[in-house]
Amino acid sequence: MKVYTFPRGGINLNDKSAPSAINSSLSFLPGIAVLPMIQHNGVHAYPVVSVGDHVEEGELVARGQGAGSANIHAPVPGKVIQYASWKLPEKISNGAVVIRMEGKFDLLGKATKEYSWQDASPFELRRLLSEYGVIEMEGRGRPLSEVFAGAQKGSNGNRTLVVRCVFDDPWLAADYCLCKERPEAAAEGALIAAKAAGASNILIAASASEKVLASLIGDKIAAFSPYPQQGDAPELYMVLVGSKYPQHGRTELTWSLRQFEKKENAPLGNLMFLGPSSLAAIYDAVKFHKPVLDRYVAVGGSAVKHPRVLKTRIGTRLRDVFAECGGWKIQPKRIAIGSPMTGRAVFSTDEPVIKTTYAVFAVAQDTLNARSVFFGGNSVLDLRAGGRTPGKPLSKRYFSAFGKKPEGRRYVTAMHCIGCGECREVCPTGLDPEDIYKSISEKKHGLSVSRLVMRCHGCGCCEAVCPSNLPLATALINPAFKGE
Ligand code: SF4
Ligand code: SF4
Repeated sequence: MKVYTFPRGGINLNDKSAPSAINSSLSFLPGIAVLPMIQHNGVHAYPVVSVGDHVEEGELVARGQGAGSANIHAPVPGKVIQYASWKLPEKISNGAVVIRMEGKFDLLGKATKEYSWQDASPFELRRLLSEYGVIEMEGRGRPLSEVFAGAQKGSNGNRTLVVRCVFDDPWLAADYCLCKERPEAAAEGALIAAKAAGASNILIAASASEKVLASLIGDKIAAFSPYPQQGDAPELYMVLVGSKYPQHGRTELTWSLRQFEKKENAPLGNLMFLGPSSLAAIYDAVKFHKPVLDRYVAVGGSAVKHPRVLKTRIGTRLRDVFAECGGWKIQPKRIAIGSPMTGRAVFSTDEPVIKTTYAVFAVAQDTLNARSVFFGGNSVLDLRAGGRTPGKPLSKRYFSAFGKKPEGRRYVTAMHCIGCGECREVCPTGLDPEDIYKSISEKKHGLSVSRLVMRCHGCGCCEAVCPSNLPLATALINPAFKGE
């Protein structure tokens, strides 16, 4: 079977401090659950409970208000003990309902009633997704009811739901475990999503090495027959794609699938991408009327004793998540949420797991780059040892030019570029990150540079391989960057 991939760039990621994706463990229920009112890409949800109220497991605690906002439910039963509020680095207000667990569980361990969805209209399915607070469980966290409604409005022809089983980053271990442990949820979730979005095709995009896993999901989709007429069922495709990072990115996956479309003469139309976690959340909401209360999270990093994939409740504080993995092997210097390539630094282990948290990690070395140093926001970690293409030692030129490796990135400037060209080589969009970075840091960027910057999707490859530790991706995707 042919393997489709993006035309240029990318890196092979291999991080030994990431958890093994063999299986997941069920984490303890959190004694204190912290529920931020922004877990999605819109404005904060509006709390409907007050301090002192008792809430049941799965009860609505905050209602989404307006576009991009989503409902939030109590992951554990208990008493609301606090409403905390703070400002995000971007000056946006956020708040959190804090619940102390007490009382009995209504959903955990109880037999759950199954609801039929075959006769529900797409509108009714979207209403259920909205009611149970289902969002994209990765990335920006857009409410799926809006994504599906937009997909129906935005195109009048062919639509394809792409099931993303692409594991080019070891920190996608949580999705991998979910696929293995709940393939029926991913499969039926895809069928529900296709109906809610009016998609005529379902395409499973899988890493070439995961053919068996993709076939398992594909077989479950094919065996499921919720449609009265066989002709009503969506067309099913399986496409193998490359395993270089960032193959799972929207742009790279689209390039690869368009090649497939052309070669196989299979009209795909508009593409809609969903990962296994989102599909499982859709399945739980529609089939069991269960809100988003938990998720699989990959926990690891060089400072963590026993990295593993945990199935944990939303609202569990990071300190509890790390304690569940045996605590610290070495005192961590940095803690971040997400993949080391595109993650976000956190400054307190009181920060909780939210719906979009697919990985958290703590590292023993102070390797976060300028993005966290200067903006306290997103960060790309120095994964160069694992990320660099083997056989290309780049640091020698750096050492001969500057004598020693800088301790951090705080003092690294554009003049430290040694012109090795590695950043150009790995950029999947064909940009010259070195040149753009110099224009930005010398404040010479005009319209032409801004246009180039718009092509950057922040994969972080250039920054990960730069031997001079220049904050390339940081500068390109952060409009506030003014050079160091
Ligand atoms: S310039 Fe942007 S797209 Fe290119 S490698 Fe860097 S972060 Fe990725
Ligand atoms: S990888 Fe770093 S040092 Fe090499 S050309 Fe790019 S910016 Fe310069």
